Amino acid sequence: MKTLPLGLEPVVAPRHTFDENRSLIGLSHAEVAEKLKEIGVPEKQCRMRAQQIWHWIYFRGAKSFDEMSNISKDMRAKLNQHFDVGRPEITEALISTDGTRKWLMKFPDGQEVETVFIPEEDRGTLCVSSQVGCTLTCTFCHTGTQRLVRNLTATEIVMQLLVARDYLNEWPSPSEGRLVSTIVLMGMGEPLYNFENVKKAMHIVMDDNGINLSRRRITLSTSGVVPEIYRCGEEMGVNLAISLHAVNDETRTKIMPINNKYPIDELMTACKNYAGIKNSRKITFEYILLKDVNDSDEDALNLVKLIKDYKIPAKVNLIPFNPWPGSNYERPSKSRVAKFSDLIFSRGISAPIRTTRGEDILAACGQLKSESEKARKKLKTTH
Ligand code: SF4
Repeated sequence: MKTLPLGLEPVVAPRHTFDENRSLIGLSHAEVAEKLKEIGVPEKQCRMRAQQIWHWIYFRGAKSFDEMSNISKDMRAKLNQHFDVGRPEITEALISTDGTRKWLMKFPDGQEVETVFIPEEDRGTLCVSSQVGCTLTCTFCHTGTQRLVRNLTATEIVMQLLVARDYLNEWPSPSEGRLVSTIVLMGMGEPLYNFENVKKAMHIVMDDNGINLSRRRITLSTSGVVPEIYRCGEEMGVNLAISLHAVNDETRTKIMPINNKYPIDELMTACKNYAGIKNSRKITFEYILLKDVNDSDEDALNLVKLIKDYKIPAKVNLIPFNPWPGSNYERPSKSRVAKFSDLIFSRGISAPIRTTRGEDILAACGQLKSESEKARKKLKTTH
């Protein structure tokens, strides 16, 4: 038997030839019904059939029409002929010593995205990607070194959750005690630059006939695309996380070029007016700690001041930088990170330090994809 390298998990999902043009995954109820009508299903049956199929896909996790036992054989044959509910190819499936899992999935045009599952004591978080690559070139981010190739479709966004639940064996959709209990749109890409597809995918995930994940269990993380933040609150109503990472425009612009377009004042004003906070929800400010760049006591105090000046109900997530090959930053010392956190906590704002998970499987955003591309290129050049 072939020995698998450490951390590599056998690929269990079928290597199904997934065809996006035929896939019913990622379509709304109305679109599924419309597709059925197009293949000649009598109009008055279309809604009911669409409901049935929806239930099989999103509640039971069906990967083929043959599993849909309450649909007649003839109808299943017809569905097989025209549509698909299969999965994309999984090119890597990794499991860390700390239980973090990571999947790299490949879509028919050859593009790959990564999805990470982080199990915790009381919940499990799935980190979902929204684009292949990213346009934003944040200097500390590995994905920022990969050029944007394209937006993911709603199908491809929803698919990441389905694949994770296939691997975790989490079908039918449990109402309580779920492994994947939370989704964070924090993987590769800027979700608000792919607004329509992200919105469509999240509405599918929230639908109570299927996966039924509450909007309170979904967090969208943005680098600060101000106009879309307003829309996100109104049209999706999910939790909001802001990649803030600096408390003055000079530093923020240096590490996050988007700050040139939407400076801190505009960003904080959008947060203050975010629809979700009217429902007593807090905004999360993500803050990556870079040694000697944004990690001083003054930075911590200014962060508290900024949040209080704008009266934003908030918590802060501190992320000590996780170096990647070729990065220009260092991780601050443990004592520096602890002091930074204490300064914020002692002023009444929660500021936990996020522990790095899955380091052995390159779980930091964008790392697996880059490393596996490099490995493949190397393989090509040595043969
Ligand atoms: S941090 Fe987010 S927005 Fe910035 S380059 Fe990375 S993926 Fe893009």
